[in-house]
Amino acid sequence: MQENKTLSVIIPSYNEQDNIQRTFQAISGILNANHIPFEIIFVDDGSKDSTYTEIKNLSACHPEIKGISFSRNFGKESAIFAGLEAALGECCVIMDCDLQHPPDILPQMYRLWQEGYEVVEGVKASRGRENPAHTFFAGLFYRIISKATEMDMSRASDFKLLDRKAVNALLLMPERAPFFRALSSWVGFNAISLDFEVQERAFGVSKWSLWSLVKYAVQNITSFSGAPMQFVMLMGWIMLAASFALGVQSLYKYFSGTALEGFTTVILLQLIIGSVLMISLGIIGHYISRIYNEIKARPRYIISKRCGY
Ligand code: UDP
Ligand code: MG
Repeated sequence: MQENKTLSVIIPSYNEQDNIQRTFQAISGILNANHIPFEIIFVDDGSKDSTYTEIKNLSACHPEIKGISFSRNFGKESAIFAGLEAALGECCVIMDCDLQHPPDILPQMYRLWQEGYEVVEGVKASRGRENPAHTFFAGLFYRIISKATEMDMSRASDFKLLDRKAVNALLLMPERAPFFRALSSWVGFNAISLDFEVQERAFGVSKWSLWSLVKYAVQNITSFSGAPMQFVMLMGWIMLAASFALGVQSLYKYFSGTALEGFTTVILLQLIIGSVLMISLGIIGHYISRIYNEIKARPRYIISKRCGY
C-alpha cells in the first residue's frame, strides 16, 4: 500500500456562517480517524454574512485550513475553480458547505483514488427532499444537458474527487463560464462513480431560487452545446415545408379564381413567422453575448482576502 498523500477538500461557501465550523468538524473528524492527510480550502463566494470571519477564526487555530474570499459573489463554479487553483494536494475533492454531500464516503473515495481511479464521481442515489417544481425543472435541464454532452448527467453532482492530473487539465481551460459538473467528465481519465444519499441541508436555506435555476440551466446548456442553434435551423426547415404546401394551395386558388379568401391564414403566418424569427434571433443573440463575454477575457473571480497561507 502506498503512503497516504494529501487530499485537498474544496468547499464553496456562500452565506454559510452557521455551517463552517460544523462542516470542518465533520470532515476533519472522519479524515483524521482514517489517517488521511488533508487541507481544507473554504472559498467564501462574496458572502453577506460573517462566513469569512468564521473561516478566518477557524484557520487561526487550524493550520490545515485555508480561506479565500471573493470581492463579490461570483457563483459556485468560480468558487470551485478558485479552490482548485489554490489546492496543493495530490487529489482534490469538492463538497458543499451544508453537509448535503456526506463526508462519511470521503475515505471510500480516497481509497478508490489510491487504487488508481483518477476521477471519483459522487452520484446522487436520490435527490433528497425538494419541491416538485425544482424536481421538474432539474429533470428537464438534465435531459437536455445529457443529450448535449452525450453523458448521463441526471444524477451527477459537484461532489467529486479529482486526481492532480484531472485538476491540472481543468485549470488549463480558459473558459470564462465553466460548467464544472460536465467539464470534469469531459476531461476523461479513469473514472468511477460512487452512489451517495443527498442529506438534508445542515443549516440555513438553499441559495437557489427557481429563477436562478432557470438562468443557471440556460447558461450551462449554451456553454456546453450548440444544439439550440440547430433548433433555429430545424424551425427554418419546418417553415419551408409549410410554405411549400401553402404556396401550392395559394397558386391553385389564384388560378381557379377563388383567391380573395384567406386573411386568417395571412394573419396566422405573420404571427408564426414573426415569433419564430424573434426566438431564433434571441438564441443567436444569446450565443453572441456568450462569445462577447468570453472574448473580454475577464478573470473568473477576484480575490479580496486570504487566510491560512
Ligand atoms: N454556493 C456558492 N455560491 C453561490 C451559491 C452557492 O458558493 O452563489 C455554495 C453554497 O454555499 C453551498 C453550495 O454552493 O456550499 C451549494 O449551494 P446550495 O446548498 O445553496 O445549493 P443546493 O444544495 O440547494 O443545490
Ligand atoms: Mg445544498
